[in-house]
Amino acid sequence: MEQKKFLLPESEIPTAWYNIQAEMPNKPLPILNPATKKPLKSSDLYPIFNQACSDQELDREHAWIEIPEEVREQYRMYRVTPLVRAFGLEKALGTPAHIYFKNESVSPAGSHKLNSALAQAYFCKKEGVTNITTETGAGQWGGALSLAAKMYGLECAVYMVKISFEQKPYRRSIMQTFGANVTPSPSMSTRAGKDILTVDPNYGGSLGCAISEAIELATTTPNCKYTLGSVLNHVCLHQTVIGLEAEKQMQLAGEEPDMVIACFGGGSNFSGIAYPFLRHQFKKGAKKMRFIAAEPSACPKLTRGKFEYDFGDEAGYTPLLPMYTLGHDFKPANIHAGGLRYHGAGVLMSQLMKDGYMEAVDIDQLESFQAGTLFARSEGIIPAPESCHAIAATVREALKCKVAGEKKTILFNLSGHGFVDMGAYDQYINGDLQNYHISDADLEKSIKEADALNVGIKL
Ligand SMILES: *Cc1c(COP(=O)(O)O)cnc(C)c1O
Repeated sequence: MEQKKFLLPESEIPTAWYNIQAEMPNKPLPILNPATKKPLKSSDLYPIFNQACSDQELDREHAWIEIPEEVREQYRMYRVTPLVRAFGLEKALGTPAHIYFKNESVSPAGSHKLNSALAQAYFCKKEGVTNITTETGAGQWGGALSLAAKMYGLECAVYMVKISFEQKPYRRSIMQTFGANVTPSPSMSTRAGKDILTVDPNYGGSLGCAISEAIELATTTPNCKYTLGSVLNHVCLHQTVIGLEAEKQMQLAGEEPDMVIACFGGGSNFSGIAYPFLRHQFKKGAKKMRFIAAEPSACPKLTRGKFEYDFGDEAGYTPLLPMYTLGHDFKPANIHAGGLRYHGAGVLMSQLMKDGYMEAVDIDQLESFQAGTLFARSEGIIPAPESCHAIAATVREALKCKVAGEKKTILFNLSGHGFVDMGAYDQYINGDLQNYHISDADLEKSIKEADALNVGIKL
């Protein structure tokens, strides 16, 4: 297999995360308290999140935030991750384009999510927190957090959506192997869970419901904090280690990307690879680079959503976030890329999208698996169903280069591997997978719910 890796020693692990909020020409709109519609302060977040992450969330001053040595120590488990020139894929496509990918699948959790899990667990530990909690749908965030908690000696409680708990037993065992306590949600362990089960004892659960249970546990248990694996500014901040390393590795390769591509769920792996390159676009005279988010057609918030204030969760417990959204009660089809089934795009990405710094494409489920399978056969790595979307967008661009006879340089992020998703590949190989089309009328219905929250708010 023809491949070329660009490796850096551990000493090149970045020493600071890049905080794009400090340098964006148009700052994002404030996050609002839903009751008063007044902007939130970071201290309003302290009861739920650790203080360091709450402060990072609203920090618009410091472009660089030091990575604690204790976090860099843990990053050494798997960082610096390889940057790879995908000769095999180029050849399979017959494209003159140069394709590179940053391989985040080498993390022991199998995805980029560990980059933020380790940071969040560390800050909790430092502030005297003993227990952390979260929700998980497909189980990737839960797995990463379980390992991070173990690294810093914290107890970890994960509420896993009940249907996933039953359908994805290996994700549950990964979390349990790392020592976490996994509860199917809804559960009888919280008020929120009991209320739901009283009405419907057979309810299969939802992310919104699992979030409510995790937040309730965090706010009612001493020394317990809640954590989130995507969407929020501090999570995107922690992920910038991906792009900061990639920037140096592209220099080793002697090339500069024309395009940077990543799949898009809440936006954390996209931010991670894109922001360190995107920051140069804020300067006059910078060479134009394209930044492409690949989202599933079944959950098209960037390509078909509306920019307005909405809740971050289905149940409406979070503050109001200014973002591209499909409406907080939008119910995406049950595609295999579970990590991309989120109704909104993070606040920073939404503002950058609105200001024209990034673009988005939507990808059907079958096209994503077709691209993922081609990648597996030409590069020897089976990608996560989420990552298949980034690969599909890359294939589209590489084929455009072929038609035009253009030698462009494409960099994409391989956010994770698909070893725990082989059921999905089975279905693809057997021809049992389908595409999902959402009608404009259906989208309008769920977006209208969000419209109602925006009465009296100026965008
Ligand atoms: C969670 C996940 C995603 C989507 O989340 P983002 O915050 O948008 O990055 C993508 N790929 C993998 C492998 C994931 O686990």
